[in-house]
Amino acid sequence: MDQVREACGVFGVYAPGIDVAKLVFDGLFALQHRGQEAAGMAVSDGETITVVRDLGLVTSVFDARTLASLQGDLGLGHVRYSTSGPSNWANAQPVYRGDGRAGFALGHNGNLTNVSKLEAEAGMLPGILTSDSELVAELLAREFPPEGTEADADFEQGLCAVLPRLEGAFSLGVIDMTRLVAVRDPNGFRPLCLGQLPPATEGEPGGWVIASESPALDVVGASFVRELEPGEMVVIDADGPRSLFPFDKERIDPRLCIFEFVYFARPDTRLYGREVHAARRRMGEQLAEEAPADADLVIGVPDSGVPAAEGFAARSGITFGHGLVKNRYIGRTFIAPTQQDRIDGVRRKLNPLRESIAGRRLIVVDDSIVRGTTTRQMVKLLREAGAAEIHLRISSPPFRWPCFYGIDTPVREELLAARMEVGEIAGHLGADSVAYLSLEGLQSAIGVPDAGFCSACLTGKYPAPIADPCPH
Ligand code: AMP
Repeated sequence: MDQVREACGVFGVYAPGIDVAKLVFDGLFALQHRGQEAAGMAVSDGETITVVRDLGLVTSVFDARTLASLQGDLGLGHVRYSTSGPSNWANAQPVYRGDGRAGFALGHNGNLTNVSKLEAEAGMLPGILTSDSELVAELLAREFPPEGTEADADFEQGLCAVLPRLEGAFSLGVIDMTRLVAVRDPNGFRPLCLGQLPPATEGEPGGWVIASESPALDVVGASFVRELEPGEMVVIDADGPRSLFPFDKERIDPRLCIFEFVYFARPDTRLYGREVHAARRRMGEQLAEEAPADADLVIGVPDSGVPAAEGFAARSGITFGHGLVKNRYIGRTFIAPTQQDRIDGVRRKLNPLRESIAGRRLIVVDDSIVRGTTTRQMVKLLREAGAAEIHLRISSPPFRWPCFYGIDTPVREELLAARMEVGEIAGHLGADSVAYLSLEGLQSAIGVPDAGFCSACLTGKYPAPIADPCPH
């Protein structure tokens, strides 16, 4: 298996009588933060599935002409990122296979953790397929009877046969010629929700939408119906959505990635029934309780540190202000493939507001420190702009363990908090002090007391087996 790791977004629409390509485009655009390396969509007109996918942002992969060529009322889209894997076209999704009546297309968010075992069981040479999503597609394709036979009924059965063999994280969207299927792994590591479109004609039922995050429903005018349950497979066809539960009951153990709340998801996304922005604000309030500091101004590192900075300021009584301007047109610097790109990226991305900063004692709130590259450069920028003191406050606990379930993180040796004690980190980053939010504080700020989370990146406790510890 090569170094491909997915932390992606999926979006699908089933809307009889409506051309869905434009809706899929809008949905993917709303999910762009989940992946900026490649984008793609597959559309079915009931007889043929057409796929367009390429490297690049949603707006560069699709234009009016491409969208016009994608005709059909069933569609599936995908945005993808990976930092360590090769950014090649072959890894763009959805993955298309010509098996079954008109084939199927599959988009995956997450990471499988038993790839070698699956390859061995299937008699495949290791590493032939370049991503775990290709592997799922290959396993599914093998469930279909030979060409020319009525394969329709076997699509669902095939999925139900393949899914229980997968381990790790997978929120999947799959279409065949006539159906949209959404699957969430038994731990529900990655989010996935269901929405409904308003009826196109009065009295008719509206179409259905699946999306990694709820704002993608909003942009296409769909109402939020619910999050998929961990271990649930929803099949949407002319009869509406139907739920199947293909996994053993013992495997069902809700573990939504806590980092979705900390950093990854959009602030307007709802997860476990809570809006992410409000949760991030509460993280800042809690952080002010746990790690106060004397200062003149609280600033947030845009964008993801800002809600927590507001919360910190409100709770501490210290003025909130803006100290860094972010170029709105830049992607996430962490995603830049090389370390030098990442360092250069910080200057391109952030510029200080000198008048607000000069001579001030600052509390600088960010959501997380991963490698420390961005943070170190950012502290340097603030010093050069004349900050008198810099007290870094991080609205999550130290990030010490790599993620095997779909957030693209560096190897353990590159994680700053795995290499250094908290006490040493301030010196390394050039800050006057550094403090992190506790795990209990983070959980209470999220505010869903009985909900299950995966916090392996913070604790090293991995809830699902990792048979294939590669690529870390
Ligand atoms: P660094 O100082 O290089 O560790 O970068 C920290 C910054 O990266 C913080 O501002 C985070 O908001 C951001 N960040 C954290 N996790 C990720 C991720 N998985 N992908 C991209 N950016 C991230």
